[in-house]
Amino acid sequence: MGLIHNVKLKRILRSGWNGTCPECGKASMFNGWLKLADRCPNCGLDYKFAHADDGPAFFALCITAFPLTFIAVWLEVEFDPPWWVHALVSVPILAVGCLGSLRPFKGWLVASQYLNDAVQAGTESSWAKLDSHDHDAR
Ligand SMILES: [Zn+2]
Repeated sequence: MGLIHNVKLKRILRSGWNGTCPECGKASMFNGWLKLADRCPNCGLDYKFAHADDGPAFFALCITAFPLTFIAVWLEVEFDPPWWVHALVSVPILAVGCLGSLRPFKGWLVASQYLNDAVQAGTESSWAKLDSHDHDAR
């Protein structure tokens, strides 16, 4: 028995962590490191609904960067090292931690948007118009 009993939350966490399609869970939702694919190559899910915007950067800053910054501060306070120790330890830890967590955060946001039918409040008609223009152009 797992710790998480909510089926939708399990799907969101699994899809985001693995970067896989929130519908079928088979193919990658990404076409590159952070760029979403246009469609799922397995089930054809159109990723047009996904608007993660700067959400992944916000979560990487709040959840990843702040704790890692405390490590750098602790290193400074505890050992008072020369500046190059921070260049060799603190900067790479922050860079790898933040850049590495962007993809799962984006995956979780996209999967969450899909499984919760999320749109920005009051913009449903605008998105419908934009989507209809996209269909007209094809
Ligand atoms: Zn799929």
